[in-house]
Amino acid sequence: MIKFLDLQAITQMHGEEIKAAVNRVIDSGWFLQGSENQNFESHYAQYIGCQHCVAVANGLDALRLILRAYKEIGILREGDEVIVPANTYIATILAITDNNLVPVLVEPDIETLQIDDTLIEQAITPRTRAVMIVHLYGRCAYTERIADICQRHHLRLIEDNAQASGCNHSQFSILNSQFVRTGSLGDAAAHSFYPGKNLGALGDAGAVTTDDAELASVVRALANYGSQQKYVFRYQGINSRMAETDAAVLDVKLRYLDEDNRRRQQLAAYYYDNIRHPLVHLPRRVADEENVCHLFPVFCERRDELQAWLAEQGIQTLIHYPIPPHQQACYPDWNTRSLPVTEHIHACELSLPIHQALSMDEAREVVRAVNAFR
Ligand SMILES: *Cc1c(COP(=O)(O)O)cnc(C)c1O
Repeated sequence: MIKFLDLQAITQMHGEEIKAAVNRVIDSGWFLQGSENQNFESHYAQYIGCQHCVAVANGLDALRLILRAYKEIGILREGDEVIVPANTYIATILAITDNNLVPVLVEPDIETLQIDDTLIEQAITPRTRAVMIVHLYGRCAYTERIADICQRHHLRLIEDNAQASGCNHSQFSILNSQFVRTGSLGDAAAHSFYPGKNLGALGDAGAVTTDDAELASVVRALANYGSQQKYVFRYQGINSRMAETDAAVLDVKLRYLDEDNRRRQQLAAYYYDNIRHPLVHLPRRVADEENVCHLFPVFCERRDELQAWLAEQGIQTLIHYPIPPHQQACYPDWNTRSLPVTEHIHACELSLPIHQALSMDEAREVVRAVNAFR
């Protein structure tokens, strides 16, 4: 049986170091807001290439807290509009509506699966204040065009980097080329360390990265009951903190993130080179630096049959995602809207197994089974 995600095998790759980190926290008797959080925050900020990192309880909170902090600072007001890709995971949109802001859904490009940057400008109204890009499937969604639009219209650019820890945007010029990490490309970014993400904790965890010192300090306060000084409450905050055990584990796993992502990229290259089937379409192949292959999506009009066929061959697959946000019961006002590209993705997408503990033999088995689909 080839599992879609083998968290046991992934954790065992560095099992001794992870257990030692957890044991160190247990022995210390200090479980929240301690040196493990400080260490991880400073290492992750450095890794992403940002001045500030605030560790929080999960990725959804990271998104919510960025928007909440912008409201406290006076940059966002209730009813303001935030442009967001229509095919994102629900958390991106929940963070917007939770703050009484209005998500403006923009269709993705079918080749890149990311927000279609040619459709952003026409979605801007006098109430638009921010664009939230989502590096979905681990692919970089940032483009120079998006940055330019944000600059010209004075919009904040917020990144949902939940699926793309370690990904880059390559900036080429005649003189040099350099890689800039997703999570440092906009004004603020949210990260998720949900166990199944490329950098996964032993439970829920997340972070905000930014170069904006004021934003970082307000997010930090909001995540700690609104307090910057013990028992003094400046904001009506929430409790969203990362456990010291998770910070210690993430600090270990961060050291292997690039290696783990390279492994995913090797497997993806093998899939790209060898999957050959008239009914199975792959999204546009991009440079390894721009795709950390959180998922490996393929598209098939007979998606459900393909999934059943692979299951018969002992291969687990998942759909990301079966129902788009605008068709969910939690957003009834959008249910009659037509977003054909998004709907096509949700009707045809199938994610093949890809993770750092998947063997080449298993990848070969996946390719053989996909190519044998009739
Ligand atoms: C996982 C995910 C989130 C939420 O992260 P959690 O840590 O699960 O709260 C947000 N956005 C996207 C795109 C995600 O994939």
